[in-house]
Amino acid sequence: MRPLPRVTIKSGREKPLTRRHPWVFSGAIQRAENVPPGTIVDVRSAEGAFLARGYYNEASQIRVRALTFDENEAIDAAFFRRKLKAALDRRESLLVPGVQTGARLVMSEADGLPGLIVDRYGDHLVLQALTAGIDVQLPVITEALRDLADPHGIHERSDDAVRELEGLPRRNALLHGQPPEGGRATILENGLAFSVDLTEGHKTGHYLDQGVNHRVVRDLAKDRHVLDCFSYTGGFSVHAAAGGAASVRSVDASQPALALAAANMERNGFAGDRYGQVAGNAFELLRAFRDAGEMFDMIVLDPPKFAQNASQVDKATRGYKDLNLLAFKLLNPGGILATFSCSGHISPDLFQKVVFGAAVDANTDAQIISYLFQAPDHPVLLSFPESLYLKGLLCRVV
Ligand code: SAH
Repeated sequence: MRPLPRVTIKSGREKPLTRRHPWVFSGAIQRAENVPPGTIVDVRSAEGAFLARGYYNEASQIRVRALTFDENEAIDAAFFRRKLKAALDRRESLLVPGVQTGARLVMSEADGLPGLIVDRYGDHLVLQALTAGIDVQLPVITEALRDLADPHGIHERSDDAVRELEGLPRRNALLHGQPPEGGRATILENGLAFSVDLTEGHKTGHYLDQGVNHRVVRDLAKDRHVLDCFSYTGGFSVHAAAGGAASVRSVDASQPALALAAANMERNGFAGDRYGQVAGNAFELLRAFRDAGEMFDMIVLDPPKFAQNASQVDKATRGYKDLNLLAFKLLNPGGILATFSCSGHISPDLFQKVVFGAAVDANTDAQIISYLFQAPDHPVLLSFPESLYLKGLLCRVV
């Protein structure tokens, strides 16, 4: 076998790789051959020892993403097929016909395939290629997914802004098979039906990472007046209604998301005057509810990612603080706050401190009754703690 192009690491910068962290930053590189984006390379120490094999992109600050730490493992079609099969097998027990038909099948680094996301929505798959290295392998990956999952359609939603960090254009296209009727797939989540817009929805269409937390809210919602802030297509709203909420109100800035939330409520049999929606900016609406003297027994706060990078952490914490402060003020005694942050740069510790600060300023005593995290189909790799991004607190006002 011809030797692969070589990337040499600066002396003293090998440690992350020897500890199986899959990223090599530009600053750790001593020398790299001039190869096209996505080329498979060998990463070696200054002394020439093998460290990892992965794909290279000169245009990205993360120059190499490791695919294997085993010198004898070739990166070929069989490799991708093996990794995909293993990831799909790990989800098998999570997919239960008639109850649970949506799941993340492949979670990037956490499943040993950096840059690749694959979600199952019933008979359809949606994939995201976030890096040049995955772009290059898409034909191989698509073929393996056809074989392994036999989907009606495979849709590519490579329209995430992070592709720009890799110097890649955005793409939104059908890769294989047929689109679902009207562009919308149906999934069951915890036995409840959701329409998922595969071409226009956020991310790949549905927040599968909140699946387990949707259930937590369902189980506590009985007889409560529930406010679901940042509702998107109603993940928490539908679950709260299913749990017997006295009333549910969804708040979101996106009109199409709210339209789908209304449709999702209706298809699960929860239409009627106990369900309401308000379109607009949640920060302003929470203030308006406060000024109007409205109170709730349960509030969900699931905002979008406020910190895109480390430099935005301070600003993001101010946003989280504001929201949680307002929420505490709107909760009746005994009320429940399910509050989340999906910013990877905000640690669970920091998030708890921010929520504590909000409670202090709201003059509220609250207990944490559960620590919440992303669903198990979004695993966190021990050697790659960055795969933890979604954290939440279930608080009770005492
Ligand atoms: N809770 C949802 C996912 C929320 S995603 C679920 O479980 O499925 C975040 C949502 O916040 C998106 O729908 C987005 O439209 C909305 N959003 C973003 N900024 C907002 C703002 N300032 N006010 C209200 N909604 C906002």
